[in-house]
Amino acid sequence: MKHLLIAGGGIAGASAAYFAARSGWAVTLLDAGEGRASDVPAALLNPVRGQSGKVEALSLAGLRFTFALIRELEAAGHAVPHAQSGVQRPVPDEKTRRKWVANLPAELPHRWHDPAGLPPGWHSVLEIPEGGWVSGAALVRALVAASGARVMRGRVATVMASGAVLDGGEILCADRVLCCGGSFGGEGGTHRAGSLLLLNKAPTQPVSFGAYLSPAIHGGVLGATFEAPAESHAEALALGLPLKSLDWLLCKGAALSGLSGVEVAGHWTGVRLSPLDCGRDESGVWHLSGLGSKGFLLGPLLAQGVVEQLGLPI
Ligand SMILES: Cc1cc2nc3c(=O)[nH]c(=O)nc-3n(C[C@H](O)[C@H](O)[C@H](O)COP(=O)(O)OP(=O)(O)OC[C@H]3O[C@@H](n4cnc5c(N)ncnc54)[C@H](O)[C@@H]3O)c2cc1C
Repeated sequence: MKHLLIAGGGIAGASAAYFAARSGWAVTLLDAGEGRASDVPAALLNPVRGQSGKVEALSLAGLRFTFALIRELEAAGHAVPHAQSGVQRPVPDEKTRRKWVANLPAELPHRWHDPAGLPPGWHSVLEIPEGGWVSGAALVRALVAASGARVMRGRVATVMASGAVLDGGEILCADRVLCCGGSFGGEGGTHRAGSLLLLNKAPTQPVSFGAYLSPAIHGGVLGATFEAPAESHAEALALGLPLKSLDWLLCKGAALSGLSGVEVAGHWTGVRLSPLDCGRDESGVWHLSGLGSKGFLLGPLLAQGVVEQLGLPI
């Protein structure tokens, strides 16, 4: 049996572990246990991105793939709190709506309706019925458990095509090595922090423009990745959740739902990395990282693609 060593156990590494194990690899999943963006309490699965309304080529396939994967895990007895309840994307004016309409591919099921039930100020609402949310931590946990991978806590210091050296000097050998370190493990790229406020209640459906409000396992969340871009994970995290950001987030939330009677029970902060790094480098090490704000939309689909290539002759 061939041995795959994966460094990083977020949605990228956990998905790769799951698909690799299913394809007959013996998998070791090594995780530093710090700075995991995939622990996001509620991740939206939303193919219509940001305020530009762009829809990337793989988005619809990724959306369907992730929800199918969640159903597969649940059928196998793993609890993955989620809902494919649809996502609401309100737009502020006719100009934005026209821009989004121009971006929407015909094959993406959607409908436009009035902003009934939202606070005043919205022009109309795009609803994507196949969208929804998932507990990031629960999906990762389920993937790792279902993979049966050997899980180790530790930090990779040096990677090679045939293994890795850990911080303490231990050497692990493998037939293939896949790096899925996300922002915590990423050198270079753009690191952007954001926070989620944990709320005692939330709308029944996720709603998103600028920030997002979503149901979660307990109550709901209000969040976004909104801090200034930084050059490293540590630099991105250094700010914590400044009062200015908290104020910005609460204003965005109030515009989306009014927030009356909503209590904040805590907050979660994470850092995402971009751009995407997917494939094999010149030294023979494989990478899946830099998933940006689409880790749950594209991560599992891309991981399956990487795993399919791992066994090909080099
Ligand atoms: C506030 C916020 C909101 C978000 N909302 C959404 C959303 O709504 N929808 C969505 O799809 N995405 C969302 N994202 C983005 C998503 O969380 C990320 O794209 C995704 O989690 C990245 O997954 P990953 O596996 O690449 O990295 P991570 O989840 O960061 O995992 C990397 C893991 O690798 C480990 N590691 C790093 N270096 C090493 C090393 N050298 N050795 C061993 N282990 C190592 C780390 O400890 C970590 O556990 C959000 C992100 C944030 C911050």
